[in-house]
Amino acid sequence: MKLHEYQARDILERFGLPVTGGGVASTPEEARQLAEQIGGKVVVKAQVQVGGRGKAGGVKLADTPEQTEEVARQILGMDIKGLTVEKVLVAEAITYDKELYLSAILDRTTKRIVLIASAEGGVEIEEVAKTNPEAIVKLAPDPLLGLQQYQAMQLAFDIGLKDGKQSRQFARIAMGIFKIFKDVDASLVEINPLVIKADGVLQALDSKILLDDSALFRHPDFEALRDTAGEPPAELQAREANITFIKLDGDIGCMVNGAGLAMATMDVVKMYGGEPANFLDIGGGANAQKVAAALNIILSDPNVKAVLINIFGGITRGDEVAKGIVAALGEVSRQVPMVVRLVGTNAEEGARILADAKLIPAGSLGEAAQRVVEVARGA
Ligand code: GDP
Ligand code: MN
Repeated sequence: MKLHEYQARDILERFGLPVTGGGVASTPEEARQLAEQIGGKVVVKAQVQVGGRGKAGGVKLADTPEQTEEVARQILGMDIKGLTVEKVLVAEAITYDKELYLSAILDRTTKRIVLIASAEGGVEIEEVAKTNPEAIVKLAPDPLLGLQQYQAMQLAFDIGLKDGKQSRQFARIAMGIFKIFKDVDASLVEINPLVIKADGVLQALDSKILLDDSALFRHPDFEALRDTAGEPPAELQAREANITFIKLDGDIGCMVNGAGLAMATMDVVKMYGGEPANFLDIGGGANAQKVAAALNIILSDPNVKAVLINIFGGITRGDEVAKGIVAALGEVSRQVPMVVRLVGTNAEEGARILADAKLIPAGSLGEAAQRVVEVARGA
């Protein structure tokens, strides 16, 4: 789950990190009022869940409350990478000498939380990785010991901070984002830019937090922070139906029960030369309604040319799955060839229910995968 900048900023603040204050406005008038309260120069920032808002014209400075209102009027309602700006953050404008980059990510290769730092802040880190990779420094602290003070200091020196006071501030902020990462169960905590102000003090001007969806149950209060505007409709539907769904680029829709079986199914589809359009796990014990929801989600992807339904009945019952398929077939907007492999609990009953539907039965996973690849190619 993605958080808005102002939400991420609030979390950073809660953990004692130096952020810019200010507030959020939904109208130009509210923006002006905020500017009046802040006094002096402000920055008005589009709150949309994409990067590169600055380049897109979504971050602007204003000298007076009147100008703030004017600028907010321009930004509110603006379209940035397909998202409409509904809110702006109005905060004190900061003058600075230098922009740094600092983040904590989950690195699947080292299986650790990795800190990434760079003296080349203000631009997207992917850009720095391409143009100036040696400007990026990484640190993978021991998962048991956590980030140590001396390591955080080393990180500061490694990106070229020479001043002792600045290095200590940087180290403290690095320790802070490492702690936030673990405490909120994030998959990314990023500060970009982390600026060095004229007086030498470090401050976070922009922050981003991604939360690990699988750990959200540990943070029920975060549910209120969710903004579904940037979420693809299929993923939203899947989440509401309690279905694990990940869209991929292929043309063979897959409906499977169990994550392991879903992975295996995708592997076998690929082995026969097909490309899965999604990963989808309906979970254990899915009822007809959930199966119907899953099928609708799969078919909402216009790339899908054929569907493979692979159900291994245990607590999931074949007849329930079959009923769901029949129900879904009655209401789906388009029809594509569907190959069904149904084994296990109540598989025979399921097969009877499906006998009248125009489906292609398959006895084994190999046969099912081979067949679905053929029909997707129009054979
Ligand atoms: P992003 O483009 O979506 O990453 O949005 P940012 O919040 O990082 O803003 C983009 C750029 O706007 C930053 O790199 C800064 O150069 C500039 N910016 C943001 N806030 C301030 C501020 O308070 N003062 C000044 N002078 N520039 C700012
Ligand atoms: Mn930024």
